Amino acid sequence: MQIPFYNFHDLHHQSFQQEINHRIADIIKKGAFIDGEYNFQFEKEFAELQGAKHCLLVANGTDALEISLLAYGIRPGDNVGVPGITFYATAEAVLNIGANPIMVDVTPEDGLICPESFKRMALAHNLKAVMPVHIYGLPAPVDQIEEFCLQHDIKIIEDAAQAQGTLLNGEPIGSRNNLVTFSFYPTKNLSAFGDAGCILTQDDELAEKIKVIRNHGRGDDNVLGRNSRCDHIQAAVLQLKLKEIEGLNQARKKVAQKYHEALGHTPLQLLDQKFITSSSWHLYPAQCENEDIRQQLQDHLQNAGIASTNFYATPLTYEGPLRSCPGEEEGTKKRAGKTICLPIHPFLKDDEIQYIAQKINEFFA
Ligand SMILES: *Cc1c(COP(=O)(O)O)cnc(C)c1O
Repeated sequence: MQIPFYNFHDLHHQSFQQEINHRIADIIKKGAFIDGEYNFQFEKEFAELQGAKHCLLVANGTDALEISLLAYGIRPGDNVGVPGITFYATAEAVLNIGANPIMVDVTPEDGLICPESFKRMALAHNLKAVMPVHIYGLPAPVDQIEEFCLQHDIKIIEDAAQAQGTLLNGEPIGSRNNLVTFSFYPTKNLSAFGDAGCILTQDDELAEKIKVIRNHGRGDDNVLGRNSRCDHIQAAVLQLKLKEIEGLNQARKKVAQKYHEALGHTPLQLLDQKFITSSSWHLYPAQCENEDIRQQLQDHLQNAGIASTNFYATPLTYEGPLRSCPGEEEGTKKRAGKTICLPIHPFLKDDEIQYIAQKINEFFA
């Protein structure tokens, strides 16, 4: 059996393709390539779905992070807290605006930002902002740092690139009083036909500022902007996919539950059962005892036709430009090298899940 990591074929089914072809033809006919009706429609619907007042589409998820830092007034030389386990872009955005990433430790069991480490780093390094990441689609404990951040005037930017469909205390990501960024890169839960991203906010002034920054500073002479517009065709794809996203995310949760049942007795360290309903299950990570076993397990699965990845298995400070970043990474290093991510797209069938579980049980037998 061949089991790929992603399944774009079923996602872009025939009737979806027909409707998208129709939309693209219409966009060509009208010549409305930027800021079209689907941009406005998607922004309205996505804000509503995520519990935010405003949604601002931008060119990609990394821009969404950079523009959020700029909108909050973070300046070159400022210190910004970043968890040690995330996709490189979270820290890259901080570097790109001339600010300094400070490593905040993660909880070794789940890879989420550790509130205690954050508070220590905030006081030790005079943090101006922090970027909790809803990594793998798990809800980061943003609620546990908000009061502290308010007291110390630290801005919170939630990196929700993997968290479309995630719930924190039963509420969708985007409903809190922070800037919240998404990526719609083709592999994310909600995805474009290329690059796109967005920022959510409850704040009218911040929303206006983001609009100015993403469009060359137009509308405010005092703001240095950039081009980070979202193409109309991408917005048309996103607005169409939004109609199906709830069902697709539910399907991911079912796959996660089945993996939990089938792998509960293996030496793999699975995520806490409490995440079954709250995570978007963008990824299904499991911890191996050590790096060697993780590599051997990945090889074993590959020989059986099963794709897997070791996403975010290494701390950010293993990346060249981040090597000398100060901070804490004891919990981060505990996870280092040990993470395997199993396929978890919404179209994974029961017999495929059973086959993967059988091969994993075989490996450990
Ligand atoms: C994908 C991703 C990004 C970057 O998004 P792009 O659209 O690729 O720029 C940032 N942070 C996290 C956690 C991501 O997964």
